[in-house]
Amino acid sequence: MSENDSAQNSEERRWLIPEEGRKHLAGVFAGLPGEVTLDVFTDGDEKNQYNEYTVRFAQELAELADKIDTRVHALDSAEAQRLGVTLGPSTLLNAGTYAIRFTGAPLGEEARGFIEAIMLVSAGKAAVSENVGRILERLEEKRTVRVFSSPGCPYCPGQVVNAVKCAIASPQLVSAEAVNSDEFPELSRKYGVGSVPHTNINDEFDAVGLMPEERFAVELVTMKDASGMVREAGQDAGTGDYPVEKVDLVIVGAGPAGLTAGIYAERSGLKSVVLDKAVVGGQVAVTPVVENYPGFKNVGGMNLVEMLAAHTREYAHVQEHEEIEEIKIGRNIEVYTARNVYLARALVFATGAQWRELGVPGEDTYFGKGVSHCASCDGFMFKGKKVIIVGGGNTALTDALHLKNLGVDITVVHRRDAFRAEQQLQDALEREQIPVLWDTVVEEILGTDGLVTGARLKNVKSGDVHEVALDGVFVAVGHVPNSALAAELGVTLNEDGTIAVDRAMRTNIPRVYAAGDVTGGIRQIVTAVGNGATAALSAFEDLQSSRWKK
Ligand code: NAP
Repeated sequence: MSENDSAQNSEERRWLIPEEGRKHLAGVFAGLPGEVTLDVFTDGDEKNQYNEYTVRFAQELAELADKIDTRVHALDSAEAQRLGVTLGPSTLLNAGTYAIRFTGAPLGEEARGFIEAIMLVSAGKAAVSENVGRILERLEEKRTVRVFSSPGCPYCPGQVVNAVKCAIASPQLVSAEAVNSDEFPELSRKYGVGSVPHTNINDEFDAVGLMPEERFAVELVTMKDASGMVREAGQDAGTGDYPVEKVDLVIVGAGPAGLTAGIYAERSGLKSVVLDKAVVGGQVAVTPVVENYPGFKNVGGMNLVEMLAAHTREYAHVQEHEEIEEIKIGRNIEVYTARNVYLARALVFATGAQWRELGVPGEDTYFGKGVSHCASCDGFMFKGKKVIIVGGGNTALTDALHLKNLGVDITVVHRRDAFRAEQQLQDALEREQIPVLWDTVVEEILGTDGLVTGARLKNVKSGDVHEVALDGVFVAVGHVPNSALAAELGVTLNEDGTIAVDRAMRTNIPRVYAAGDVTGGIRQIVTAVGNGATAALSAFEDLQSSRWKK
């Protein structure tokens, strides 16, 4: 090794953030408009790796940006007392102006929320839509928001950012805290956290999942479930006028199919917007490892998604957290969301599929309290605990391997005596000695005090029924297509609820296409990507040749 190489290696070892990440962050931070002070509090325990990570991470961010200043304090300091900090590590952002704190080390996905929070605080104004601004004007009492998250949860940063935006928009009334649930299991237990993101407001109101900004704001103000009433809430808040944007193509859904459609459409010359009610990636974002996407022998689902999304963003506008509420087809296709109206010439449904439920007693009651569909998001919370995963497909086995890897005591429960998952995964399951209960179904999920305590299982061959003590139940029994919006529009569905398309991904309605899992088939990333390209190129061809006008 040359002296040069060894100097480079020791320089690299000095950093926690890898070189590529540093370059990216330095670029992002170059445009920071205002100063940001990160006050990090720790108990000084050097054996606590979370302390070291948090301090180093904050210090490295300060090295990468002129506008960021990091100060480190002891948890028993007067400053900690003044600011009411009792848990370490904790990081407060511009503590004099806002009540925004990250409790725990911002690891993995949580780091994304942390970086975005820094950028929002630096801008010093909430990047909320006018609609949300109006909703927040109704707020009269204080709100303390805690968002519990985990390093493997791609949905968590979005919900943390929702809380941070509201804390910036209403600094006198709203405080936002992001809590690393893996690091603070007792606090998580106190708030009944069994699935993340879990949001608690004023110790009174709880909600599980990532919400569009508008719904978050309504729930913050009303402390009531606001699913399905967001547009009305916006109108009620006095907004009738939504910005109108003209595009050639609206692509609904930012999974592999939608993201690829965005690339192909824009490269063909169609001005496109890709909308997603949650975050980019669809199911792939929560797939721990992908081993069958050509060119990538083994890649984290989220990494693959980030590469895909970055590629699409080079061309098309990708808008996360924007849910479509209504679509009307006339001369234009009018797409209404809670904050915009898009006037488009064509539309692609790439809405994917959502988790299928088992449909047994206890499943709904204990969802988010030990019942989960997302091993990437919630797996960390079950480290050292006894858990089952139900299903025999690729998802069940991929997730079982991931959970085992996290140190979860995992058993697979499958209703037949053979898996449908690919052989590679079955071999890996055997290698990892993960137990399987064959021919077994879950009859009921049991719990007490709002948490899962077990399940009643039945062997379908012998008829034997027995109860097992458990801390969690992961359900991976397939998916149902997200085709309701298409059906409302009159798009023809297949018997299984998937959207019927021809080989060019055209639906029965002129200028409306569909791609990816919502169209059924073998439901692989590689086919979704192919479908997305086909749909976009068909739209281009049809708009060019006015095929539908004939
Ligand atoms: P899937 O292939 O449809 O498998 C669902 C599994 O759940 C099946 O084993 C099924 O049993 C079982 N099941 C269905 N309903 C049930 C019920 N009510 N009670 C008990 N068990 C029930 O779904 P998936 O595993 O989510 O995969 C979906 C698609 O995504 C597949 O195309 C898959 O290849 C792809 N995928 C790929 C990867 C990867 O490659 N890394 C990861 C995840 C998903 P039966 O077998 O008896 O029908």
